Amino acid sequence: MKNCKTTCSYCGVGCGISLSKDKDDFLELEGNEQYPVNEGMLCSKGMNLHNVVMDKSDRLLEPQMRSAKHHQLQNVSWDTAMTRAAAVFKSIIKKYGPDSVGLYVSGQLLTEEYYLANKLTKGFLGTNNIDTNSRLCMSSAVVGYKKTIGDDTPPISYEDIEHSDCFFIAGANPAWCHPILFRRIEKRKEQFPDTKIIVVDPRKTQSAEMADLHLPLIPGTDVYLFNAIAKLLVQYGAVDYNFLELHCNGGHQLLEFLKDLDLNETAQACGLELSLIEQAARLIADSKTLLSMWTMGLNQSSIGTNKNLALINLNLLTGRIGKAGSGPFSLTGQPNAMGGREVGGLSNLLAAHHDLDNPAHCNKVANYWGCGSVQSKPGLSATEMIDALDDGRLKAIWIICTNPAVSLPNLEKVERAYKKAKFVMVSDISSKSDTLKFADMILPAAGWAEKEGTMTNSERRVSHLPKIIDPPGNARPDVDILKHFAQKMGWEDAFTYPNEEAIFDEHKELTRGTNIDICGITYDRLKKKSIQWPCPSEDHPGTKRLFEDFKFFTPDKKAKVHVVEPEHKSEKTCGDYPLILTTGRIRDQWHTMTRTGKVQRLNQHTPAPKLEIHPDDAAKLKILDGENVEITSRRSSVIVASQVSTAIRPGTVFLPMHWGYINKSNKARANNLTSDIIDPISKEPDFKFSAVKVQALSKK
Ligand code: SF4
Repeated sequence: MKNCKTTCSYCGVGCGISLSKDKDDFLELEGNEQYPVNEGMLCSKGMNLHNVVMDKSDRLLEPQMRSAKHHQLQNVSWDTAMTRAAAVFKSIIKKYGPDSVGLYVSGQLLTEEYYLANKLTKGFLGTNNIDTNSRLCMSSAVVGYKKTIGDDTPPISYEDIEHSDCFFIAGANPAWCHPILFRRIEKRKEQFPDTKIIVVDPRKTQSAEMADLHLPLIPGTDVYLFNAIAKLLVQYGAVDYNFLELHCNGGHQLLEFLKDLDLNETAQACGLELSLIEQAARLIADSKTLLSMWTMGLNQSSIGTNKNLALINLNLLTGRIGKAGSGPFSLTGQPNAMGGREVGGLSNLLAAHHDLDNPAHCNKVANYWGCGSVQSKPGLSATEMIDALDDGRLKAIWIICTNPAVSLPNLEKVERAYKKAKFVMVSDISSKSDTLKFADMILPAAGWAEKEGTMTNSERRVSHLPKIIDPPGNARPDVDILKHFAQKMGWEDAFTYPNEEAIFDEHKELTRGTNIDICGITYDRLKKKSIQWPCPSEDHPGTKRLFEDFKFFTPDKKAKVHVVEPEHKSEKTCGDYPLILTTGRIRDQWHTMTRTGKVQRLNQHTPAPKLEIHPDDAAKLKILDGENVEITSRRSSVIVASQVSTAIRPGTVFLPMHWGYINKSNKARANNLTSDIIDPISKEPDFKFSAVKVQALSKK
């Protein structure tokens, strides 16, 4: 098989890949030169995907179930596993009700898998307790978009990069985490040197190195900063009053609020010189466009929603939205976070952007699924599921395609909660998932290139991923596992599909007439070309940019500008825990390393986690570069080597989030330390702000 066209399964950039295999299933991989996202370019992770697939040494090959007698995991047939799983779910639901069970899934699922998991849970198990690891990633952006432009519909295309003369990148390091997107920004700058790049980040990341201006603010103070920039944009004459009047609500209130804002106090709150903030505002004011980009630095916060609103204000105040090169653009972390949003993958969402709190929407979806009803009450979010397992409200959980025993915050609590569960079922491809040790049932899943389906990237681009090779052993695509489970639950009629395309067709029909209408997208079309939604009919080319007519998805078609007061809802630093810990990703690893950790070449860049600490803090604490340190929060402690560096601001320390126990013998899990405080609206955890102390081990 030569040059099969597929899509990278790591980040939300969604690069096109050409994959070939010889008769021995040996894979060769290269970037797809015809694909509009990457034009042949791939980053280090994408370039090595075939090596991950070919190394089967860690793959789960058979279903495993704990024996009642010895409590050991034993290989069983699929039929035995599914019969047992369905019996356990049925008995728990009968005894404790449908809200005593739940699913925790992933932005790495294909859309067809995601759709089925949601239909199964919300329609047939009778609970909205299905959440996803995308809760840890972009749920604040979902709320930010809904509250401003009326729906969770990122308005821009990557093509806008080639039209922009000003990039405002806040709480993101695309040079490492969205490398091909960043390469396009670099190219734009090379071709048009007057293009301005502003980066907001407590760390001098590689993206910040490239920037014209770096604003190393104190973690958590983004709202202060964005409000200050908004005030300066008023002073510099950059506000589009006509746009505000005609196309927005709330503009007047924001302008009134900004009048009283004290710029010196605000700069002090951010830990920045006012002159730096003035420079940022001046660069924006003097530009013709504004492409604002953000990821976890804004989203993973106890005030993540407010950070989103305050940033989107900048685009609305200047009228820079719905125009080439301008718009608010949240970068998605995972390859199919957007597809998950389409199918209502979060516990507070319903399929095809329907709303749980709208009875007509619940009825429409329930009738379509033939399930009688859908609960209107939101289900448990990711961390709420842990609380519910801990206090006994949730009894059984099915974890699919994610490794929460490394990725959730406050991991010792997570472990306690999983141990208390009556039944934990885990579907995964890899035996290297730390979550497996809590499983009563393990289901071997097919991975990338071993199954067919679709994904949607950050710019609403739907692509088709063909099955190219067979999964090893008895591993199965997640759609097959979900269908088998549903059949054992007695819902065979609603879960019989001849193929994945039929699931996609059912999903797309639910989008008809909505803001994300994909009824014009077919597998046949996708096999020739990826398509950006909305795409309501088969002769529709897809939509590059939304809101070019300035009619937003709110009831009166006007965008909403918000007055956002700065707040501090994170845990407090104090004498015992004086430093702010922020966590994040490194260049060559992905999530919890179950895939990238297998590739020797990728492990060379950063072989072990290190705590980045400023020389002033290191000197105070008598910590030498490379020395082992113990980091302690109010929850737990970890031990890693130090990396003394001026790249981080004083008072803040940084630890990468990828390592779990399986990948490292010492206690290096960053999420042992992190706080499980969540944003009250988006329910996204506060990964970027935990109070810690650091001690050199030799000084203990
Ligand atoms: Fe894959 Fe993202 Fe790298 Fe593209 S930028 S190759 S999608 S990891």
